Amino acid sequence: MSKIQVLDQNTINKIAAGEVIERPSSVVKELLENAIDAGATAITVEIREGGISFIRVTDNGGGIAPEEIPLAFLRHSTSKIRSAEDLFLVSSLGFRGEALSSIAAVSQVELITRIPERLTGIRYQMEGGQEKSREEIGAPEGTTLIVRNLFYNTPVRRKFLKTPVTEGSHVGELVEKLALSHPEVSIRFIQNNQNKLYTSGNHNLKDIIYTIYGREITANLLAVKACQEAVSITGYIGKPVIARNNRNFENYFINGRYIKSSILSHAIEEAYKPFMMQHKYPFTMLQLQIEPELLDVNVHPTKMELRFQNGELVFQILRDAIAGVLMHKELIPEVELGEKQREIRDATLPEKTEKKPSLPEPFEQRRMAQLFPENAIPSQPEAVAETSAGYSASPQNKAPTQQIKQKQLDLFEEPLLAPASRNRHQLIGQLFDTYWLVEFNDQLYIIDQHAAHEKVLYEKTMASLKERQQTSQIVDPPIILTLSSKEEALIRQYRQVFQELGFEIEPFGGREYAVRTVPDNLFSIAQKELLTELLDTLSEDLAAGGSDLIRERVAMISCKAAVKGNHSMTAAEARQLVDQLLLLENPYACPHGRPTIISMSKYELEKKFKRIL
Ligand code: ADP
Ligand code: MG
Repeated sequence: MSKIQVLDQNTINKIAAGEVIERPSSVVKELLENAIDAGATAITVEIREGGISFIRVTDNGGGIAPEEIPLAFLRHSTSKIRSAEDLFLVSSLGFRGEALSSIAAVSQVELITRIPERLTGIRYQMEGGQEKSREEIGAPEGTTLIVRNLFYNTPVRRKFLKTPVTEGSHVGELVEKLALSHPEVSIRFIQNNQNKLYTSGNHNLKDIIYTIYGREITANLLAVKACQEAVSITGYIGKPVIARNNRNFENYFINGRYIKSSILSHAIEEAYKPFMMQHKYPFTMLQLQIEPELLDVNVHPTKMELRFQNGELVFQILRDAIAGVLMHKELIPEVELGEKQREIRDATLPEKTEKKPSLPEPFEQRRMAQLFPENAIPSQPEAVAETSAGYSASPQNKAPTQQIKQKQLDLFEEPLLAPASRNRHQLIGQLFDTYWLVEFNDQLYIIDQHAAHEKVLYEKTMASLKERQQTSQIVDPPIILTLSSKEEALIRQYRQVFQELGFEIEPFGGREYAVRTVPDNLFSIAQKELLTELLDTLSEDLAAGGSDLIRERVAMISCKAAVKGNHSMTAAEARQLVDQLLLLENPYACPHGRPTIISMSKYELEKKFKRIL
């Protein structure tokens, strides 16, 4: 056994650095927060190679006094708190005194700083936590920190870094969030010698939202202003028309700090629920000021999770503030519900929501209710019982869908879809402009035209995408998209794949990109919303799927959009559709997993009419 020894300070710092500094964006976060804490009104962030080889943060804040410079790089040295009690009063962004020591332990750091009281500044260099040089130089008031070659002395950590493009996009995102949370500070971001972001520091949040998110979002904002007990909320929320497919656009800051919190997300989504389709998420940009007593500040500095002393209260205040704003706007057209659904709704909703506009039932539920009215399909007694119970008791219950799907497969023991059965199909007609009724072998089959169409198109598109038989068409004028830095990185990283699929996307100045060509099958429906939706779903979980996922999503979106709207179909077209459906490997569910076909037997009908017992 080796002897027990106390680790030297340098090693301790290197280990500690792992907790605070994970990647270039964590360095930028710490340096930006320090600059803001130092009272800067203008900050420039510059990175090269995604911040791996070079990060420079320059501020015009108060500077560091010459005699305090070495202290600033000591672990647990901070000018912001004096004792553990102070932790509860902190209003500054960082206070654990760990950042500079951690950064200096794993990189080459150069500090240039001057306080207003002095005529000259100091240039101070460190490498791997050791002082390298110190000299007096001419410098503007404020502080510049340069961090070179991150993790140069910890190769294992360095190996964990992603490509410069990915790391750079993390930094870009972080700078955006800080700019949004501090409209009073002018922030400039330069990446590989290109200006990526500039905010003027004029206190106007909407200006920054415009710079980062573009025209369309800015045009659809509602202001929020609420103050209750220990919580005050200001900022903007998006109208439901600019809803997205993931939570990336739900932003909120607590006491100036960008955080993630399932409580706050939940509160936001709860407020939006009556106005939103399922799986859609709103745009929000909210500043919450919460009394420090209500926060658990002793959370890990790099974790963006925050704990509340009284989460329930914060939840309610936020939800009510947002709901209040939404409720007073005419956002949703009246949707008439059937008597039955109205009863259910009124029975399940608390009283005070009575004055709301009628709630559009989520699409899925409406469809379920249409397809499986109580006891309509007695061949699946369990499923039906589950459905109606699930529906009235808890509309969100997912279980019934699964039950039905399982049952679904049993229904097709008789080979309706075998090509040989084809000329024994009796096409009876169309119901509600949507469902085709087919009689075959003592069964009534009900085919959802949209789901079937979507399925057929999807398989076709996937096949042609796989065989690279894709051709593209020019969109004129091009579609202009304003992209977030994450989306920008996505498009760059997968440029090749997008090109193969038939997308030609070019930089169009600043955050804007011009889409000049799209795949053939997207042409008739290519619109801004469609492409935004595509990028949204991709940026959500691209890491898992890579280029295959892009292909799949393009196919999915193109066919989903292609069959939107109730076009009526002639009987001949319906026959053709059923024919095409026959050829598929799994014709029973559309690409989103909803059934394409359900059935009811003659026997069950006769039982219903009490012709047999
Ligand atoms: P913390 O921010 O938690 O106090 P840091 O390690 O980030 O710890 O910084 C240590 C100290 O160095 C700070 O408390 C502050 O006094 C000083 N400091 C760091 N960056 C700046 C800056 N940009 N301008 C002025 N002072 C700074
Ligand atoms: Mg700090």
